[in-house]
This record gives sequence, C-alpha cells and structure tokens, in this order.
Amino acid sequence: MAEQLKILLDESEMPTRWYNVIPDLPEPPPPPLHPGTHEPVGPDDLAPLFPMDLILQEVSGESFIDIPEEVQQVYRMWRPSPLYRARGLEKALGTPAKLYYKYEGVSPVGSHKPNTAVPQAFYNARQGVRKLTTETGAGQWGSAMAFACQIFGLECEVWQVRSSYDSKPYRKTMMEVYGATLHPSPSDLTQSGRDLLALDPDSPGSLGIAISEAVEVAVADEDTKYCLGSVLNHVLMHQTIIGEEALLQLAKVGDSADVVIGCTGGGSNFAGLSFPFIRENLAGRGNAVIRGVEPAACPSLTRGTYRYDFGDMAGFTPLLKMHTLGHDFVPDPIHAGGLRYHGMSPLVSHIYELGLMEAVAKPQNESFAAGVQFARTEGIIPGPEPTHALAEMISEAKRCTESGEAKTIVTILSGHGLLDLSSYESYLTGEVPDYDYPQEKVDAAMARVPQVAG
Ligand SMILES: *Cc1c(COP(=O)(O)O)cnc(C)c1O
Repeated sequence: MAEQLKILLDESEMPTRWYNVIPDLPEPPPPPLHPGTHEPVGPDDLAPLFPMDLILQEVSGESFIDIPEEVQQVYRMWRPSPLYRARGLEKALGTPAKLYYKYEGVSPVGSHKPNTAVPQAFYNARQGVRKLTTETGAGQWGSAMAFACQIFGLECEVWQVRSSYDSKPYRKTMMEVYGATLHPSPSDLTQSGRDLLALDPDSPGSLGIAISEAVEVAVADEDTKYCLGSVLNHVLMHQTIIGEEALLQLAKVGDSADVVIGCTGGGSNFAGLSFPFIRENLAGRGNAVIRGVEPAACPSLTRGTYRYDFGDMAGFTPLLKMHTLGHDFVPDPIHAGGLRYHGMSPLVSHIYELGLMEAVAKPQNESFAAGVQFARTEGIIPGPEPTHALAEMISEAKRCTESGEAKTIVTILSGHGLLDLSSYESYLTGEVPDYDYPQEKVDAAMARVPQVAG
C-alpha cells in the first residue's frame, strides 16, 4: 500500500484546548521582574499592556485552557493544518528516515502567527479595547495582527523594523489591505524612536526598538493595548494547537516522533509544535529528541547568556530571565527577519536549561540551500525562517543515511516564502553573506544588561 502523503484531520477533530506546559515541568520558570523594584511583577503591573484574560493565561497553572468558540470558528478557516510526509525530499536524500512537516503556511497570512493573533484580538475586543499596537520584523506578525484586528473590529497600528519596511514592500501593502496603520521603526512618533534617531538617523531598526515604540504608545492611551507575537507564555500556549494536531496526525498513520525540530526566533512556532511532544516525553509516553534551530548570526540559545534582561531596547518591559545577546544588540540584517531577536522566550530558555531540549545554529547559506532543495522536491517555497529547521532536518536525515537508522523526524514549516522571493533572488545570485558570530557587538551589548540577583 502506498504511504500517505498528506495526513489530514476533520474539522471536528480540531483540538479545542491549548496546552500549558508549565505545570508539567519539574520546576517552574523564574518569574518576570519589575524593572524598578526587581520584585516579581503581578497582574496589575501588566494591566496597562494586556487584557486580563491574557494576563491570567500568562501566569496560569492549568494544564489546558479551552479555546473560545469565537476563536475556534476563525481557526477553522485554515485549521486543522496538514501534516505532510516529505517523500520527495526523502527520495532526493536517499535516507531511510521518515520526514514529516506540519505546514502552517495555509493560514490566510501564510504563517503560524494568526494562531495567537486571533485569540489576542478576541480577548482585547471582549474587554472593550479599541486599538492594538505592535511591532513587526519581517512583517508576518504585523500582517497576522492586522488580519485578526479586522475580524474583531479593532484598530491596528504597527511599527515595522526599518530594514524590512524598506526591503519587503509587499508585507507593508498586505498590512494596509487588512486596514492597519504602518510606521517604519525607529519613528519620530515616540520618545524612544526620536532618541535613537538622534544617535543614528540611518538606524536599520531592530525588533527591540520597535517593541519600545509600540509599548510607549499603548501605555499612554487607556483604550489602547499592546500585543506581542512571540516570547511570552500565553503566545507559546496559543501555538500548541500545532503540536496537538501533529500528535493526532502521527497517531493516524501509526507513527511517533524520534526527533522534533523547529526554528527559534522568539520561540513560538518551535514551542507550538514541541511542547505537546515534551508533555508526552515527561509522561513516559514518548522519547523524542526536541531540537531548536537558530540563525548563526543571532544565536541566543547556543551562544547567549541565561540571565535577566529587558525584552525591548529602551527597557520598558519587565525583566525576563532568558538566553540573551543583550537588549540593545542589533543583529546583522539576515533575511530571516523573524529570527532577528536578541532574546529567547523565557519558557523555552528554562526548558533548555532543564535539559529537555537541544539547540543548534545554522548559517544563512546552508539554510537557503535547504529551502531551495525543499522547494524542488516538495513544491512549497519555505519562508527564510523555517529553512533553518529544514537545514537541520536534512542534516539529521543524512546522519540517518550514514547510520542506517530509520528515524521519524518531524518539523514545522512555519510559513511560506512567497513574499520573500527577493531573499531567494539574492541567494540564487550568490549575494547572501554568512555573518560571523558578532562577538564584539554581543560583548558590548551584554555589558549594558542590568545587574539582577538570581
Ligand atoms: C515570526 C516567524 C518565525 C519566528 O518566530 P517564532 O516566535 O520563533 O516562531 C518563524 N517563522 C515564521 C514563518 C514567522 O513568521
């Protein structure tokens, strides 16, 4: 019998709960701290930024949280998403390994980001919030948020990192089509933007700077709140529907994962796929190796320091204990804009410290080569971010060829690359540099990380 290529779930099989990994961990992650007092932040400290439902999810001790019916309805526009067996790639590699990818590019905006943008917009709208501000790097988060705000009748204002605002014009148009207002960051609309422009009028921007601008505007207006596309516990939790579906899909074909691989920017698509697998591991029902893949030019997990740091450049956010390269570190302008963040989610960082996952870093050219090989064998052109995970999947599959092991490897294709063709053009014409690890820049940024006991 031919093996199934596309493993689908019925709409009625879509999971109706998100999974919170925290209660299952041997110890809880260190709490976020108030930047002034260095005491743990309470729900009231976060209330100017987020609606109460999301704050409660951020600190929840429940293992499962019901997905509101209104959110499920929107999810059903594209969920359950397909799990594919990558037969074409397997054949090209001549590997005994079985390769699977969970494809999140089927969402209206082409990435996993709406899995959290939709509930974030829903909870804000339900609390009577009028406008949401946010930042975006490559534009995926901004377009997801613009799409979700439109559904629930919210205004959406987005600060887009200058380098991608200039180099990715179609994302900008996409956000505007969905009705969002766009600003390049740094902008002259905020104090943090103006301060930075005074120092460097040609600043290419960074996610850390754009976050400062969006937060500054949100806290100044009572009807406005802020939303984040990665890093925080509630964001990672919303993404776990990906892994819950993948577990059901593998069970349908009688398979189970030996290796689970995802790219890590702030950690949300990786966590979304892997946290349900970590639960299975901890419960003794699985023993998959869990592996994050980051860009060699911005390697917060493999080269960063685990300590308290700010989530943004200006130091407005609570202090988060995470693997960091320093909150004012500006990464080299790699094409995978969604992976250019100075820190790693505190929860993913904690899980890494607990030894429940591994991490590796991949350079740009190897990642693009994997993306091209994937497109030629599987048909889908991957976003530059998930090409990092594909590069590691290919490395693992080649190790299987050498050892003769028929491992089952599962990855997440977090988005398609149809709005990133200019990056592929650069790669095909040989113009993509492999940046060295920027030791001096990281050392300088780390010297400015606040001193916090613990
Ligand atoms: C934003 C983004 C990423 C990186 O963010 P994570 O929070 O680490 O998932 C990866 N892939 C795609 C397609 C993205 O849009």
